[in-house]
Amino acid sequence: MNLITYLRAGYPGLVLVTPEEARAEAELAAACRELQRNLHAWSATDGLVDVTRCSSIDCFDPLDALARVEALFRQSETRHIVMFRDLQMYLDQSDPVLVRRLKDLLRLAKGNGHALVLTGCRSKLPPELEHEVSVIDLNLPDSTKLGSVLDGILTSADQPLLQDGIRESVLHAALGLTTIEAENAFALSLVECGRIDPILVAREKARTLKRGGLVEVVEAKPNLDDIGGLDALKRWLSQRRPAFGAAARDYGLPVPKGLLIVGIPGTGKSLTAKATASILQLPLLRLDMGRVFGGIVGQSEANLRSVIRTAEAIAPCILWIDEIEKGFGGSTGGGSSDGGTSSRVFGSFLSWMQEKEKPVFVVATANDVSQLPPEFLRKGRFDEMFFVDLPDAGERGAIWKIVISRHRRDSGACDLAALSKATEGFTGAEIEGAYREALHEAFAEGREPTAADLRAAIAATTPVSKLMKERIEVLQTWAKGRAREAGAVSQAGPSSSRPSPRVQSLN
Ligand code: ADP
Repeated sequence: MNLITYLRAGYPGLVLVTPEEARAEAELAAACRELQRNLHAWSATDGLVDVTRCSSIDCFDPLDALARVEALFRQSETRHIVMFRDLQMYLDQSDPVLVRRLKDLLRLAKGNGHALVLTGCRSKLPPELEHEVSVIDLNLPDSTKLGSVLDGILTSADQPLLQDGIRESVLHAALGLTTIEAENAFALSLVECGRIDPILVAREKARTLKRGGLVEVVEAKPNLDDIGGLDALKRWLSQRRPAFGAAARDYGLPVPKGLLIVGIPGTGKSLTAKATASILQLPLLRLDMGRVFGGIVGQSEANLRSVIRTAEAIAPCILWIDEIEKGFGGSTGGGSSDGGTSSRVFGSFLSWMQEKEKPVFVVATANDVSQLPPEFLRKGRFDEMFFVDLPDAGERGAIWKIVISRHRRDSGACDLAALSKATEGFTGAEIEGAYREALHEAFAEGREPTAADLRAAIAATTPVSKLMKERIEVLQTWAKGRAREAGAVSQAGPSSSRPSPRVQSLN
């Protein structure tokens, strides 16, 4: 819903959370013009400015300003909208008189058709005000808005406007940035190479998002051939590739929602999440759940909203949430230790998953399902839940082949069947670790690795299947009947070559 809808509906108090002050003000001014309201703006440095009449009153103290606004609301027949810049910072200090005055003013505004709009980066309000105002997020600019920024920059630099194809690529690269960030990225590209280059804009976007600390653009995108085994999962993903296009909508298919991959650590869940980007040919954002909950108390909800806003602006895209249990672990059970924050954030996340209309495909990976709230695993949240087990003999052979080639050696010269047999109970990560160890041994002595180096490195590895035997068995038992096996191609159940539970053979 947009700002005008709220104002038209008579909401007396709105909080507009955005780092883009100028754009928020421009949108508010446009709304005032359309609704024929008088716009006033207060800040601690300018006092109370009547934007419509270009006059101002020197009242720099917020209490004083609220008193002036009250007088304005009482006297006049005209309907006013007053924007308060950064008032949340004063409200944070919980001054009871300020909070009371604001509540009184909101009541007056409601009765007389006026409105107060608080702008700033913070959404946190004292509990006394939480139910008095509505927090709304300013969506990130779409490509039409970014297009005007782009044209403005080119015109001011005396450069011709871009041709359609390249313009589209530049705007696509900039989606997910605020207008100011996009302006900076365009200007930087102009200074760096004398033109606006989509690759430079995309690089700048990646840097900007990374600085924000919540999401990062993942550039390295492995493909299907980089994953050994997991055939059922790879097949499922390949089938989803065309499902994002218009033809799929015409056919009556919904936009794919997401995928949950659970399993043993080191079995290729993250690798597959990254490969999803090249399989579906979409940009990949990695969300750091730990960061969502870190930082200022009460910022978690705002952080999640900011992530959703970025992902939806970039959509169609993939949002990868690594080790999701780490973020939402605190929302299980009644006695959460964080005052219910993770439960609330988790609730918002679930409703977004349920209702989202923008094509943001969520790939969540988890090692420990016991920490995940049951609502999360309920059917319908994700399109599918896959379980990644320890690789079977064939899969280990495929992983060895990939790992050896990845390290620029000829896998054809190795006995893959013997390597696979020697590494029963190993995960893909452990196979790679053992191979690297053998390479280090050989490199230190200035030669190529031998079968003996490989045998020694394998023997020196204690696989997690041994270290965490019981936990893995619990996970394997849990997954039966609940999650689809990532390794099995048929849907008829576990493949016959896969002993179950496999870890028993290690004893
Ligand atoms: P997880 O996310 O399940 O803990 P990762 O995907 O991070 O495991 O795996 C770590 C590394 O191990 C990968 O980057 C890759 O090099 C290797 N690896 C694990 N599983 C596979 C696999 N099935 N095929 C190829 N490489 C694998």
